[in-house]
Amino acid sequence: MEYNGRLEVICGCMYSGKTEELIRRVRRVLIARRDVQVFKSHRDTRYSKYEVTSHTGEKVNAIVVPKDPHKETTSSEEFLKLINHSVNVIAVDEIQFFDENMANICNHLANLGKRVIVAGLDLDFRGLPFRGPMSTLLAYADSIDKLHAVCSVCGETASMTQRFIGDRPAKWDETIYVVGGHDIYKAVCRKHHYIQVPNDLSITYKVEDQPD
Ligand SMILES: [Zn+2]
Repeated sequence: MEYNGRLEVICGCMYSGKTEELIRRVRRVLIARRDVQVFKSHRDTRYSKYEVTSHTGEKVNAIVVPKDPHKETTSSEEFLKLINHSVNVIAVDEIQFFDENMANICNHLANLGKRVIVAGLDLDFRGLPFRGPMSTLLAYADSIDKLHAVCSVCGETASMTQRFIGDRPAKWDETIYVVGGHDIYKAVCRKHHYIQVPNDLSITYKVEDQPD
């Protein structure tokens, strides 16, 4: 299938089903007997999740993109080297862990006529836009699907990720890049998102006295 090129962004908080949605789209490409390359960040250690098999037996595994040797981010330069230019569909999961240049690369690939599907977190645990390529990708996108999870406190629609250090909510200045599961991260609604903001921070931000 020839594409005119497009950039599809799947975003949302943790446990909102971003990877499932990415895999669903990849599976449909395989059902149509088209080639697809799936990439993931070096930080993502969930290997088995990405083994996608269509009903006709085609199979695709995610290619792990290595870390930038000088930074903590996944290297967009390495990603470029791994692209097979005869393949017209490219899917990238956990895009927030890549460096900023990934946004321009994905936009360029779409301009070349490729269908580019990316998935990742839009907000960090503080509720701020995740630093890296995601904000720019949302601007470049032809389509955006923002997915939601279920609030772990009240059961309403969750669009934020709450991070814990032991039993307490993570503080504002704690590191952004921590890969973890239900022991560290929970999906929450706006009402039940708790973050203690430093006094000298010049932005207005909701602060609650105590987490629920
Ligand atoms: Zn809630």
